[in-house]
Amino acid sequence: VNKFDFITHKDCEVFQDHDLSSYSTMKLAARGDLIVVKSLAALKFLVKELSQRKMEYQVIGWGANTLLSQNAEKIFLHLKIANHEGVLSEVKDRYLLSATTSIATLVSAASKLGLSGWEVLTGIPGSLGGAIAMNAGTKFGEIAKIVDKVYVLDKDGKEKIIIMNGDSFSYRKNHFLKNGDVIYQAELKHLGIDPAVNKKITDYLQFRNQTQPLKSATCGCIFKNSETKAKTCPAGLYIDIIGLKGFSYKDMAISHLHGNFMMNTGAATKEDVLELIKLVEEELYLYFGIKFQKEVVV
Ligand SMILES: Cc1cc2nc3c(=O)[nH]c(=O)nc-3n(C[C@H](O)[C@H](O)[C@H](O)COP(=O)(O)OP(=O)(O)OC[C@H]3O[C@@H](n4cnc5c(N)ncnc54)[C@H](O)[C@@H]3O)c2cc1C
Repeated sequence: VNKFDFITHKDCEVFQDHDLSSYSTMKLAARGDLIVVKSLAALKFLVKELSQRKMEYQVIGWGANTLLSQNAEKIFLHLKIANHEGVLSEVKDRYLLSATTSIATLVSAASKLGLSGWEVLTGIPGSLGGAIAMNAGTKFGEIAKIVDKVYVLDKDGKEKIIIMNGDSFSYRKNHFLKNGDVIYQAELKHLGIDPAVNKKITDYLQFRNQTQPLKSATCGCIFKNSETKAKTCPAGLYIDIIGLKGFSYKDMAISHLHGNFMMNTGAATKEDVLELIKLVEEELYLYFGIKFQKEVVV
């Protein structure tokens, strides 16, 4: 008997013990069970069935902030739910968008329509669902500012609409998702129409290209910056100060361009990344007495 025989919905595609190396931007050697879900009805069916069988699952968007392992115990759900056609073609107060929408699509719409507040996401790879879960952002701002409502399916397959408030997010964190919750869509607002948004996006992109290894297999910043009342300690800068840029372990290397980025230069595994992270953590603590929190989802 196949353990996934109960998945009979036509919009669920099951990949058992699958090569998952293309499901994270760090392209780690990874294997596991993956289910591609192509409609809300299928998602409802699936989470209910999995929960009843106590089979643990985790959503994976672009895997731009996630380390995948070689023998993942959780089942990965990858949503592919399309937007209504033309949803981003004109200026509106609110946009109801599928969690699958890529951040690049949002930035491109912002550039065309001048949607202020959206430009802060320029250059961040990933999906809208992942960006909301992580409160993605840059030094210019966070997605928190433009999310109005988040539509979630809980582990029993029930729909919940969560209205955002001042306490919904903090630095690279949301405070409303419960274990098993899946974001399937969200309503975004903008902070006004500003013709300068287009130019800002071009400038931000240029800046990112110069300062981050965007062509390498990475998962963005490994560590969160350490924030105290007195000051912000940028992890990348501190890694640079102790001379660890370029340092490598097996197939993992710290970028020469940005100290907070680790690159998979071959066939690295999650264990290799964790080992390099541990080494860097220890050095940072030794030099500065600071325990940097991880931004990447392990
Ligand atoms: C080159 C590079 C640069 C980056 N720069 C930045 C940056 O400047 N700022 C920044 O904030 N991040 C940055 N990142 C990290 C990453 O792009 C963001 O965290 C992004 O939001 C992750 O989206 P994702 O779809 O890949 O999420 P994933 O990595 O797939 O998932 C991240 C987390 O969100 C959860 N999740 C994903 N989708 C859903 C959903 N639909 N419902 C519920 N939970 C969900 C996952 O379970 C996981 O816990 C960078 C990454 C790379 C590779």
